[in-house]
Amino acid sequence: MLAGLSIPSSTGEALRRFLLGMLMPSKQMLIAGEWCDAEDGSFSDVLNPATGEVIANVPKATVSDVERCVKASKAAFKSKEWSGMDPAQRGRVLQKMAAATYANAKSLAVIESNNNGKTFREALSEIRYGAWTFEYYSGFCDKIEGSTIPVPGNRLNYTLKQPLGVTAHIIPWNFPLQLALRSIAPALAAGCTVIAKPASWTPLSLIEWAKVMIEADVGLPDGVLQVITGSGGLIGDALAGHADVDGITLTGGVPTGHAVMAKASENLTPVTLELGGKGANIVFPDANLRYCAKAICFGIFMNAGQMCWAGSRLIVHEDVHDELVAAVIEEIGKWPVGPGMEEGVRMGSMVHESHRDDVLKMLAEGLKQGGKVACGGNAIDREGAFMEATVVTDVSSDNLLFQEELFGPVLSVTKFSEESEAITLANDTPFGLLNGVWTTDLSRAHRFARDLECGMVSINEYPITFPQTPFTGWKHSGIGIEQSKDALNFYTKVKNVNVKL
Ligand code: NAD
Repeated sequence: MLAGLSIPSSTGEALRRFLLGMLMPSKQMLIAGEWCDAEDGSFSDVLNPATGEVIANVPKATVSDVERCVKASKAAFKSKEWSGMDPAQRGRVLQKMAAATYANAKSLAVIESNNNGKTFREALSEIRYGAWTFEYYSGFCDKIEGSTIPVPGNRLNYTLKQPLGVTAHIIPWNFPLQLALRSIAPALAAGCTVIAKPASWTPLSLIEWAKVMIEADVGLPDGVLQVITGSGGLIGDALAGHADVDGITLTGGVPTGHAVMAKASENLTPVTLELGGKGANIVFPDANLRYCAKAICFGIFMNAGQMCWAGSRLIVHEDVHDELVAAVIEEIGKWPVGPGMEEGVRMGSMVHESHRDDVLKMLAEGLKQGGKVACGGNAIDREGAFMEATVVTDVSSDNLLFQEELFGPVLSVTKFSEESEAITLANDTPFGLLNGVWTTDLSRAHRFARDLECGMVSINEYPITFPQTPFTGWKHSGIGIEQSKDALNFYTKVKNVNVKL
């Protein structure tokens, strides 16, 4: 099946490929209110990782396309049609964007599942979450307030909070549409203009969403929202280093964070970086182990473990280690692996065979350093980028399986005996995104919440977040805050005004 067209399996491979090329839908970028190709007409293929088939092609933008895009964004910002709009009206536009996203959530989820490999159910809940994020920020448009400040003498002193300007949003492939909407919504709410660049592997849902917004005629002036597709190293880099880009939001890996921050520093452009993670679930004997086992699986096998906030480490008290590991392995039996659009599947394909192979290589390296495979550990022998849900026990804290983000369905298990040892273990990675604590001892739970070196802690539940709560990483997990009213600070500039009366 390609773009709704079946190609009989009896067709020879060469002819089949040719037909796929002919029939494949070509997507376009949204620049200055127009759908367009790259300036030099080049395209790249987009795959369905569950079948390995090309399902579309998208423009491979050039640096001159970036120039065109930034110019249009700057013009749209300077025109003040958006930034100077009655903020309540801007809020209504965001409400319409939320409504159009909800209304099209199912068709967007089909695209997401086919392009990323995740299950339809996962994709649908993410897209609804994206719509909810728009709803949440729509109410803020007319509540971005400055302050009056008491100063000596006959003076009036106040602050204005003004939109940051042209913002570039560089998006990863693991939650392609949801993470795009997570930062686009507060940027638009603040009155900024937006250039969004999806990851090369997963551009389809964002392009389709932008099309939905245009067709729904939500009231965005031309150039306020643009989508540009192409290589991160070329156009992501060009956006990050552009003098007319006023703010960059990247969700991606740590090396990309370094590259973007270095490039942005050339113009002192502010950045928000949401990077990797190595989340731990720390489990004490008084926890509800059955429920905990379910949450642990959810935290590492959802989205085939390709999550910054994956609970990829289980740090468990020695008294309940064997019981909990057995419960986790039993629970894995309820996670059928297969194509994301197939009924009953809970763990879809990984995003690309090359990524799956990288995860397997890291797993093999880690196992050379120690650890025992209690479950899984292999690629699944079928077409597509599938991998078994994997549990490795007896992992020491110096093992790469404990330290590094594998970004796949691999859970490492480490025992502890004392509370102080558990906190030391949990903090012993370069990352600091989300950690979970499982105990019914209230004091212990809050001691951990205080002492964990990370931006988010969840007690007796994992993983969990809401549009209204900060999503933020410490250490190598990032800089800045996504979601919540705090995210609006990035998209606004403070101006102090002094008036001699
Ligand atoms: P990635 O860093 O390879 O790519 C992210 C985006 O950056 C893509 O759009 C890519 O094209 C672009 N890019 C790549 N090189 C660039 C460069 N030199 N300059 C500018 N842009 C560039 O990440 P990925 O593989 O798509 O996603 C996985 C990573 O994202 C993981 O490390 C994961 O932890 C992280 N992530 C973090 C969060 C969070 O909120 N903290 C959420 C999801 C994913």
